[in-house]
Amino acid sequence: MASLSLKHIYKIYPNGFEAVKDFNLEVEDKEFIIFVGPSGCGKSTTLRMIAGLEDISDGEFMIDGKIMNDVEPKDRDIAMVFQNYALYPHMSVKDNMAFGLKLRKTPKHEINKKVTDASMILDLEQLLERKPAALSGGQRQRVAMGRAIVREPKVFLMDEPLSNLDAKLRVQMRAEIAALHQRLGATIIYVTHDQTEAMTLGTKIVVMKDGIIQQVASPRELYNNPVNLFVAGFIGSPQMNFVNAECREEKGEVYLDFDRFSIKLPGKQGAVLKEKEYIGKQVIMGIRPEKIFENEYALSVHPETQIEVKINGYELLGSEVLLYFNLLDEKPAEVQRQFSEDAYANVKKVQWTAKVDASTTARYGSTIKVALDPNKIHVFDKETEEAIVN
Ligand code: ATP
Repeated sequence: MASLSLKHIYKIYPNGFEAVKDFNLEVEDKEFIIFVGPSGCGKSTTLRMIAGLEDISDGEFMIDGKIMNDVEPKDRDIAMVFQNYALYPHMSVKDNMAFGLKLRKTPKHEINKKVTDASMILDLEQLLERKPAALSGGQRQRVAMGRAIVREPKVFLMDEPLSNLDAKLRVQMRAEIAALHQRLGATIIYVTHDQTEAMTLGTKIVVMKDGIIQQVASPRELYNNPVNLFVAGFIGSPQMNFVNAECREEKGEVYLDFDRFSIKLPGKQGAVLKEKEYIGKQVIMGIRPEKIFENEYALSVHPETQIEVKINGYELLGSEVLLYFNLLDEKPAEVQRQFSEDAYANVKKVQWTAKVDASTTARYGSTIKVALDPNKIHVFDKETEEAIVN
């Protein structure tokens, strides 16, 4: 297998559009790298540059220390699996998998062995004589994977390979791809805009926006320590809650004021805000839905980060419930501490979500107290949107 190195890679299309800007990434052997980001952020363009299907406008791309910028796609030892994995309809599963090898004039006994091995890995042994029309979506996707596997490439590139499958199959294929990665010990680069796929499959995730890498980190690191507001909002489902807040110091303690509430930050987080001179400044506060609690115990241990909210949405997911409520996203000075519904009628609101245990008695219309986990509060700079406290 292989290691890849991308240094200062740019893609400027003929119309002048900069689709990828200063992309830097080191991929080690056997890593499962995910490119994730919203539509149009440059994921596929980067993948296509690695495959050689798109010219690299600037920068240096190496596989195992060898510069690849001008190497033909067929000589890069890379196999690609696309979202539209068009199989040849008139060929059997076996022939579909063998086709590329036949074109390369691989000896017949070698082709047979490779196809047999791949079909065992992919659990396709019973289906080798079938035509694609007689296969399910997931089985077809596995044949497309098989076509890539038989080539024994140094690197697998996968561009949204599961996006044409229904939800259940996606989950199943996701697990199969993870197992495949283990079995093959392959280096994989996988493009998706689905953050669940990114979190469950990747050993390392590259989060992109507008052609620029925002953060490269393990799934856990991205979830716990997002570098900016974009990453914080993109990774995690339901997404992180945000609200405009003001940083305040009182008797040495640091508070975040928002809506009509004031919550006290733990000493460590407070010290960071003091040291970085955020006292008296506007910031953006964030907290993940699963870090908002409404049970008695949590309320008793977190008395300093409680807020009272009116539930305006309830969704039972099974073992958990999503509770929705609104917070005011501005704090008009004249009504700061004398809350009345009327005074706030025209103020901008944000919707928050709390993910709590299904045993909750809260329902639509309930007014309840919730506590924010004080150690899981994120604070972002309002101008640069960079994380100050994670
Ligand atoms: P998606 O998830 O929608 O596939 P993506 O992140 O893979 O998005 P790319 O396909 O890499 O996005 O495209 C990145 C940007 O480059 C987009 O804004 C797209 O419109 C632009 N782009 C792609 N191909 C060309 C081209 N040939 N000429 C000019 N701009 C292009």
